Amino acid sequence: MNRKLIIAVDGYSSCGKSTFAKAIARELNYFYVDSGAMYRAVTLYCIRKGYINGQNLREEEISRSMDDIHIRFRYNPDIKEYETYLNGENIEDEIRQFEVSSFVSVISKIKAVRQRLVEIQREIGMMKGIVMDGRDIGTVVFPDADIKIFMTASEEVRAERRYKELQEKGVRVEFKDVLSNIAERDMIDSGREISPLRQAEDAYVLDNTNMTVSQQMDWFREILNSKAGK
Ligand code: C5P
Repeated sequence: MNRKLIIAVDGYSSCGKSTFAKAIARELNYFYVDSGAMYRAVTLYCIRKGYINGQNLREEEISRSMDDIHIRFRYNPDIKEYETYLNGENIEDEIRQFEVSSFVSVISKIKAVRQRLVEIQREIGMMKGIVMDGRDIGTVVFPDADIKIFMTASEEVRAERRYKELQEKGVRVEFKDVLSNIAERDMIDSGREISPLRQAEDAYVLDNTNMTVSQQMDWFREILNSKAGK
C-alpha cells in the first residue's frame, strides 16, 4: 500500500502491544509512538516534584505543570530503538521502574494531562506513517485511524511476560505484585471517566495468549492485504 497509514494499537496492560507495534513499524518503515511512555514521563515528573503522596495527588500543581513538561522520542542507533526524553533527559529506563507503574494510572486520569498528551499525539500523527500504541488511540486520539487493533491476553500470561521482562532488566519484584499491578491498572484504565480503555467498534481484536510475534505478524499482514485490496 503506497498511502501512509495511521495504525492504532490499543489494549490491556502488558499484552505485548509495544512488541507488536514495533514489529509493524519495522516492517512498514513507519514511526512507532509509545503513548504509554508519555504518561509514564509525566508520572516520573510528578514523583520527582513530590506531587504524589500515597494515593493523594496535588492535581492543581500537576495540571499547571503540563506546560513545563516536554517529551520527545529520540532514536538511539546503538540499540536501534527510540528512547523517551523528559525535558532533555533520557528517562527510558526510569519510566519502566515499578514505582512509575504503580502511579501512572492515577496520573492518567487527570483531565489536563490527557488533554495535553492527546494534543501532542495528534501533532505527531500529522506526519502519517505511524503506529501508536496505548489505551485510547483508536477511540479518542485517532478515531479515523486506518487500522485499529485491540489486543488482549489472559491476565496470568500477561503478568508472566511482564515479570520476565522486569527480571531481565534486573528489577527486583515479586510475581504477585506484578499480577496485582496489571489487574489494578486495567481496572483504573477501563473505569476512568475520561477516555476509558475500551475496544473501538471497528477494531480488529487480537487475543495473543497463545501466539508468537511471528504469528501475530501473519495475522496483521492478512488485515493489511485485505485493506490494500479494497
Ligand atoms: O502502555 P503502558 O503500560 O506503558 O501505559 C502505562 C499507563 O499509561 C497505562 O496503564 C495507562 O494508565 C496510561 N495510558 C493511558 N492512555 C494511553 C497510554 C497509556 O491512559 N494512550
